[in-house]
Amino acid sequence: MSELRLMAVHAHPDDESSKGAATMARYADEGVRVLVVTLTGGERGDILNPAMDLPEVHGRMAEIRRDEMAKAAEILGVEHHWLGFVDSGLPEGDPPPPLPDGCLGVVPLEHPTEALVRVVREFRPHVMTTYDENGGYPHPDHIRCHQVSVAAYEAAADHRLYPDAGDPWEVRKLYYTHGFLRQRMQLLQDEFAKYGQEGPFAKWLKHWDPDHDVFAKRVTTRVECAKYFAQRDDALRAHATQIDPNGDFFRAPIEWQQRLWPTEEYELARSRVPVSLPETDLFTGIEDR
Ligand SMILES: [Zn+2]
Repeated sequence: MSELRLMAVHAHPDDESSKGAATMARYADEGVRVLVVTLTGGERGDILNPAMDLPEVHGRMAEIRRDEMAKAAEILGVEHHWLGFVDSGLPEGDPPPPLPDGCLGVVPLEHPTEALVRVVREFRPHVMTTYDENGGYPHPDHIRCHQVSVAAYEAAADHRLYPDAGDPWEVRKLYYTHGFLRQRMQLLQDEFAKYGQEGPFAKWLKHWDPDHDVFAKRVTTRVECAKYFAQRDDALRAHATQIDPNGDFFRAPIEWQQRLWPTEEYELARSRVPVSLPETDLFTGIEDR
């Protein structure tokens, strides 16, 4: 089998470990070359782990997040590339304040697109993953990540566009990750109840509009990757400033997750090869697997 390559495009360091991480670990383990591209340095991330809220951490976020990212990539067994743009931060307030000068959210779309096209033409992935048009989470960099990824998927194949950014390459398939699913959360919550425990997800489920059903309406592809859930959690914990190891998302035992929901979910957004949905493998239709 010739070499297969997967590129996952993310907004910030840590996003790769919370969205599709077990899938990447699985493919890397199976010999696929996996490259994570992170658009920003995550410089404006808050410290979300009380244990890391230390004087020596403040003011050194950019540097610390580089180290955390390197550790996470090593745990997942993937290659990593920084695209070099600046985190927009999550604007809070009503109305929200304008985005800071020079950040990813305000630079012209062509700049990060050209930079990503260059990486696509060099790495030549068969499959790319990114977020849907809502960003999966309403952060301006996540929306931007979607826009940049879709633009680069199209432009990388077009020799008329960005001619100085390498020889054209046709990525075969583009996927959106869909990890935040009500059905999965409900199953885990019910499992806590079965053991007479109060699950951590009630506050999420209570406000979740059942009509907003990404799983039924958008998921096309479920990748079995239960064996890699522990690796996913270790990678996430490597982002120590961003992740509280005592947080809600680590409370459901891995054994429950493996038994109740052993997959990660994707939506096939674009394809240049014939497909038949649903699928269980991001590379279906590309090679004999
Ligand atoms: Zn993010």
